[in-house]
Amino acid sequence: MKVETVKEEVWNLAEEINRVLGYPMITPTQQPAGDHKNKNISLIGNQGRLYIRPASGGYWVALSGASLVNKMHDFMCNLTHEEKHGYYHKHQEREPYWFVSDYQQVRKAAYFYADIDLSKQAHSFSDLDQEFQDKVLESLREESSSRQDRIAKASKLTAQIQVIAVVFLRNPDVVAEALFRASGTCERCQRAAPFNRKSDGTPYLEVHHIKRLADGGEDTLENVLALCPNCHRELHYGDI
Ligand SMILES: [Zn+2]
Ligand SMILES: [Zn+2]
Repeated sequence: MKVETVKEEVWNLAEEINRVLGYPMITPTQQPAGDHKNKNISLIGNQGRLYIRPASGGYWVALSGASLVNKMHDFMCNLTHEEKHGYYHKHQEREPYWFVSDYQQVRKAAYFYADIDLSKQAHSFSDLDQEFQDKVLESLREESSSRQDRIAKASKLTAQIQVIAVVFLRNPDVVAEALFRASGTCERCQRAAPFNRKSDGTPYLEVHHIKRLADGGEDTLENVLALCPNCHRELHYGDI
């Protein structure tokens, strides 16, 4: 790998990790040129240093700092299917290192280093929702008895994971004006809102985007409808 390529990758990786963490924990560095030192490209976090050095056909990923070595040893051996090179010893300051063949592995090592569980980060909220709906359909195709067997054995408490949420920051004025325009009547079925809001007693309608924001739809009055919950759900999930 070329030094310049690795440098760019490491800088991008630091930016990506800090974005996922939500605060600037990781700093990328490169030692000044001379004596091959410019190959010393690393990520610095609060638990020592993760070196990502260009090598022929890949990278050397090296660890410095005893706590880091202990923490990452098994992970790195698993990731690379190799035992470590080098050693870490109190009086011999040579850090262990692993040969890593591709960028995705470097990325995994860096995420582990930053204490981010990549398997839990890989999901977005909408992916999870889609996976869940698919599992419900799959479950519905089975006999009730096999579902009940599984329910009896399943944990009664639900697991929690963190997901990356990408949300649209909608314009509150568009929502308010659409609700005002509808004045309590669904703009699709023309029926009265089914109930009033607990918070302020106003009729409960939901403001829906005709062309989805995710598909490039605009957040404008022309692209929204104030709908009763039934119509809203039907537009999203109905067979129409
Ligand atoms: Zn309606
Ligand atoms: Zn909608």
